Amino acid sequence: AQDKRESLFIVTNWAGKFFKETLWDTEEGRTVGLNYFKERGYREDVIRKFELGYSPEAWTALHERAKKEGYKDEFLEATGLTIRKDDGGIYDRFRGRVMFPIHNLTGKILGFGGRTLKTEKKAAKYVNSPESEIYHKSDVLYGLFFAKKAILDADNCYLVEGYADVLSMHQAGVENVVSSSGTSLTAGQIRLISRYTKNVTILYDGDEAGIKASLRGTDMLLAEGLNVKVLLFPDGNDPDSYVQRFGSTAFKQYVAEHQQDFIFYKTHVLLRNAAHDPVKRAGVIHDIVESIALIPDAIKASVFVRECSVLLDIEERILIAELNKIRIGQS
Ligand code: ATP
Ligand code: MN
Ligand code: MN
Ligand code: MN
Repeated sequence: AQDKRESLFIVTNWAGKFFKETLWDTEEGRTVGLNYFKERGYREDVIRKFELGYSPEAWTALHERAKKEGYKDEFLEATGLTIRKDDGGIYDRFRGRVMFPIHNLTGKILGFGGRTLKTEKKAAKYVNSPESEIYHKSDVLYGLFFAKKAILDADNCYLVEGYADVLSMHQAGVENVVSSSGTSLTAGQIRLISRYTKNVTILYDGDEAGIKASLRGTDMLLAEGLNVKVLLFPDGNDPDSYVQRFGSTAFKQYVAEHQQDFIFYKTHVLLRNAAHDPVKRAGVIHDIVESIALIPDAIKASVFVRECSVLLDIEERILIAELNKIRIGQS
C-alpha cells in the first residue's frame, strides 16, 4: 500500500509539471491559460509560486504524454487524472482548464482543481480531482503549505471559499490564508488549522451561500474550541474580486475595519430577517445561545453570554438558564 501511495504521488507530481510546462511553454497554454491568469490580475511570481498550470483542450493530451514517458494507466486512473469509459477508452479529466495543484504540508501535489475558461453556464466552473488513496479532501486545506509560517507569525488564519481568493490575498501580501475549496468545512480541516493557531477569521463570499456557509463554519470552529471572527464582502464580492477591484491597501483596511466577533455577526445576520417580531427574535436568541453552548471553555462562554445579553437586551440569567438547558440536552 505504501508503494502504491508512492506511485500515486509520482504521477500527480509529474502531472503538475506537465500542466505547468503546458502553461508556460506551449502556444495554447500561453495564449489561453497564461493570458487568462493575467487578465484576472495575477502576477507571474504568484502564478509560479502556486505552480499554476493549464490542461490542453485535446481529449487525451495528458494520457498520451504519460504513456510515452512510461506512466501506468492504473495510477493515472487511481488519481483521477484520466477517466476510463465503458468501452475501455481513456480520456483526460482536465481539458482546456487552468489548473490549481493542491499541495500537502510538505509541498507535494495530491490532486488538482481545474477552472473552465468558458463563460457559458454549461461547463462546471470547477472540476476537482476525486478522492484517492493520497487525496482525502476532508483533511486537506488549499494553500496551507504556503500559509503555515504566516499563520504562526500572525497567530491567525483567514478562511476563504476558493482558490482565487487564496491567490489574490497572497498577492496582496496577506499570506495567512487557506481555503476548503469545494468541500464544506470539516472537523479534520479545523484540527489542521488548530495546529498553527486558535484564531480564525472567516472571509466568505458576500452572497446567500457564503452567509449560510459562514454560520455553519462558525459553529464548527467554536465546537473545536477556536476563536472566530467573521466578515462578509459587500455587493456579492469575494476576497479575490475585492482585492482585484479595489487594491490591496483598500482590502486590508476593509478587513481590519469590518471583521466582527461571531456574536455580533450572527446576531446581525439573523436579526435582519426577524425585525421586531418577538417570536422571531426569541428564535434568534435561542440560535445564538446554541452557538455559545458549543464553546468548550466555560469562561469564554460566559463572556459571550454577557456580550449577547447587552447586544440583545436580555437579562443574563435568562440566557444562562437557556444555555444550561441546551448543555444538559447535549450531554
Ligand atoms: P472564480 O473566482 O474563479 O470564479 P470562486 O472561487 O469565486 O471562483 P465560487 O463559486 O465562489 O468560485 O466557489 C468557491 C469554491 O468552490 C471554488 O474555488 C471551488 O473550489 C469550489 N467550486 C465552485 N464551483 C464548483 C463546482 N462546480 N464543482 C466543484 N467545486 C466547485
Ligand atoms: Mn461563492
Ligand atoms: Mn467566490
Ligand atoms: Mn471569485
